[in-house]
Amino acid sequence: MPSPVTIAELVERNKAYATKHVPLPYFSEFGNLEQHPPAVVVVTCADPRCIPETFLDLKSPETVVLRTAGGRVKPIFNDLLYLDGLLPLTSIMVIHHTDCGKSFMTDGEARSALKTRLPDVKEIDSMEFGAFKDSTLEQSVKDDILFLREAPLLRRELGEASVGFTYDVKTGGLTPVQVSNKK
Ligand SMILES: [Zn+2]
Repeated sequence: MPSPVTIAELVERNKAYATKHVPLPYFSEFGNLEQHPPAVVVVTCADPRCIPETFLDLKSPETVVLRTAGGRVKPIFNDLLYLDGLLPLTSIMVIHHTDCGKSFMTDGEARSALKTRLPDVKEIDSMEFGAFKDSTLEQSVKDDILFLREAPLLRRELGEASVGFTYDVKTGGLTPVQVSNKK
């Protein structure tokens, strides 16, 4: 088995990368250049097999990408609110992927695992991890889209412009997840 990459190796790779880096605009330069600031936020998993820059063929600075474990939206909700004040956002694309690590445990199992190390910490009992072993991939996407559409603090037009997909790490393809509003 190959040895895992080290930070020292990554720093060396950066030195090689920086020799061919194309300068990117500062905020103050948007508008002067032929570039539009990002309008779409992509929320997806931090899993190293789930790299939207690759599977969406993203060109910087077209989109903002926020990656969390599972691509769940609650942990980055404050970031969405902040970004909506900073950028002319039009839509949010939520992508969860097949074989996601968040599908291997339930929140209850994650709490139990943490409790074996920290048995006396009561606040663990109410912690949420967004795990979805007891659900399905499509349902986790639906839950996040409905959360965004119903979040009172999120600008209504932006919440309504949330769309969900699943990403297949074997085929590289996206499948849309249809979400009908509860109300
Ligand atoms: Zn994942």
